[in-house]
Amino acid sequence: MKIGFIGLGIMGKPMSKNLLKAGYDVTVNDLNKAAVDEVTALGATSAASAKEIAQQCDVIITMLPNSPQVKTVVLGKGGLIEGLSTGKVLIDMSSIAPLVSREVAAELDKIGVEMLDAPVSGGEPKAIDGTMSVMVGGKQEIFDSYYDVMKSMAGSVVRCGEIGAGNITKLANQIIVAINIAAVSEAFTLAQAAGVEPNLVYEAIRGGLAGSTVLDAKGPMMMDRNFNPGFRINLHIKDLNNVIETSHNLGLALPLVTQVMEEMQVLKHDGLEACDHSSIVRFYEKMNNI
Ligand code: NAD
Repeated sequence: MKIGFIGLGIMGKPMSKNLLKAGYDVTVNDLNKAAVDEVTALGATSAASAKEIAQQCDVIITMLPNSPQVKTVVLGKGGLIEGLSTGKVLIDMSSIAPLVSREVAAELDKIGVEMLDAPVSGGEPKAIDGTMSVMVGGKQEIFDSYYDVMKSMAGSVVRCGEIGAGNITKLANQIIVAINIAAVSEAFTLAQAAGVEPNLVYEAIRGGLAGSTVLDAKGPMMMDRNFNPGFRINLHIKDLNNVIETSHNLGLALPLVTQVMEEMQVLKHDGLEACDHSSIVRFYEKMNNI
């Protein structure tokens, strides 16, 4: 099986390396030549365009920032659609709007190409060690056929329903992560202002009910003032925009998401959009003159 991989960023680069480690034949493409060179040095082949990847490979994985980039790479000029043919498969692992997953899948269906939407969670460390969580939407038989490919990059791979269900699940994931980071930020701000060291608070509570993956991954970053991404604020704003748009379509009110979204917008306004989302703690410090 020949696998094409487009999007060698913070997540895509280690994911493509794990496919190589698992023994797959991988062809890559990215706008960033340095990333392409790094992965080809480990045994991948490179292709000049998405169209070329589609012509050469049986299954194509995309790991791009957002819906517009996925639409360009799949449906745009020189895109995958110009090289795909019946029987080939697209696995889009980017986090995008669920409606766009369905729209892209409907276009591919017209030429006999199947698609899974398969966004991931776990961040760069889990992409590197191959223990990410993958949440998948699409037909059961396509999921079954490509389970091993996805599992070679992940600790868990769960089918959540038909096309779009992967990205709905990812939005649920992003709600929980965003609100958790805000909660950890508020807790650390209170402790610090009251004269109790946040690192002692962290050590004391991480084994109790307040312990969480978010606390373990993001708490130390806040204490070390290390806001190197990781997951950039602007990507999390993108996800919460998709949450808010989806909740409006469903007629739902999600007040906590709206609150955290406003906090992220303040940080973006302050020029922190390329920082890790753990920098939400800066919002609380600024608000309280800490
Ligand atoms: P990134 O910005 O680091 O990487 C995106 C890559 O796509 C870049 O290398 C860029 O050059 C490439 N790209 C963009 N347009 C392209 C095009 N037209 N053709 C070829 N390459 C193109 O982003 P990331 O952090 O790796 O995130 C990728 C996706 O995964 C996003 O949807 C993000 O929300 C999601 N995600 C990220 C994390 C994380 O911790 N960073 C965790 C889970 C999910």
